[in-house]
Amino acid sequence: MNRPPRTPHQSGGTTPRLILKAGRERSLLRRHPWVFSGAIERVEAAPEPGGSLAVHAADNSFLGWATYSPESQIRARVWSWHEAEPLNAELITARVAGAVARRERLLPGMNAVRLLHGEADGLPGCVCDRYGDLLVIQLLSTGAARWRAAIVAALVACTGATQVYERSDADVLALEGLPIAQGLVHGEGQVLPGIVDEQGLRFTVDPVHGHKTGFYLDQRDNRAKVRALADVDEVLDCFCYTGGFTASALAGGARHVTAIDASADALALAKTNVELNGLSAERVDFLDADVFKHLRKLRDQGKAYDLIVMDPPKFAPTAATAERAARGYKDINLLAFKLLKPGGLLFTFSCSGGVNPDLFQKIIAGAALDAGVDARIVAHLNAGADHPVALAFPESEYLKGLCCVVG
Ligand code: SAH
Repeated sequence: MNRPPRTPHQSGGTTPRLILKAGRERSLLRRHPWVFSGAIERVEAAPEPGGSLAVHAADNSFLGWATYSPESQIRARVWSWHEAEPLNAELITARVAGAVARRERLLPGMNAVRLLHGEADGLPGCVCDRYGDLLVIQLLSTGAARWRAAIVAALVACTGATQVYERSDADVLALEGLPIAQGLVHGEGQVLPGIVDEQGLRFTVDPVHGHKTGFYLDQRDNRAKVRALADVDEVLDCFCYTGGFTASALAGGARHVTAIDASADALALAKTNVELNGLSAERVDFLDADVFKHLRKLRDQGKAYDLIVMDPPKFAPTAATAERAARGYKDINLLAFKLLKPGGLLFTFSCSGGVNPDLFQKIIAGAALDAGVDARIVAHLNAGADHPVALAFPESEYLKGLCCVVG
């Protein structure tokens, strides 16, 4: 059913093939799974978008089985490095089972967890977040979209999920030439907001209207770190979304939290989440404001905080946009440093794929310097064990953060 068309090509064979330019096989030999358009000498018997092809070096040696994305600069993504292990439903079932088993081992009993993390789980472009009995998937490459049925069947078989909801509506779909796909792909009825439990805190997750799959599971460990250090007077949670850090800070003893977001819907859910945990919403100022502007206002008012969380949206999806993003990160972090009391803590993050951890650290160093504060890093932060980073694919480490103490 998912088999690519078998179009004969000039040498008489039937398997679509992609041949690299001489010398361009190096990254693939190191098991980096992306084939960029500029590395390609020719494609023989090109399959349809999402169809399989064999990737070969210029000397004709086999490199891997990939799926084809004719509209993307990432023209092919490798799913298998073994000639005897082509891309088929069995391979997908095994990959999904392996990914689910890793989570069960590393995060046992977790009811809100990322089950599939794309390339890092050997499933290029496949994301799946579990919220109890509901799974939310994003299929963000042509190959992932083409294998939708097999991926969903494997997920249901491994987890016993009653509903699988697709939220393939990210910006990267356009780069792949894929249409938005949103709706129930397994199970029946309506997909309603549900409540997940995260280390003793409860959060409402709305997979249909929320961001991405509905919740930022990638900040689980960092919310716990904030909670552990939040027994203070004044916390500032910038880009608070549905209140993950705000509720964590309150649970950790914070006397007062200022929570800022530009989305009224997110703020309403943040308030719900605070109350859901029996925490006092009276201890929170929920502000519908632009963080860039509001930080200046707080500075002009002479406000000061013991702990600041800075978790902005993705400013730079690709390396090409990193410079503009760097200015944005520097601006908000410079203001944050100025707003910290002596001994105060800054938890600052970037989820921009185009800004690597080194660059992010340099930006934060520049922000502290220009703010005139003496700051030191006390922890490097990242996403949890359910967001693994493939050693051969550093791009899977999209979330990076620093905890800095001033003075
Ligand atoms: N910290 C959150 C996730 C943040 S997502 C958590 O742990 O769950 C980024 C948030 O930034 C979104 O809620 C979005 O509405 C908000 N946002 C984007 N641009 C903004 C701006 N300029 N000012 C304020 N909020 C903004």
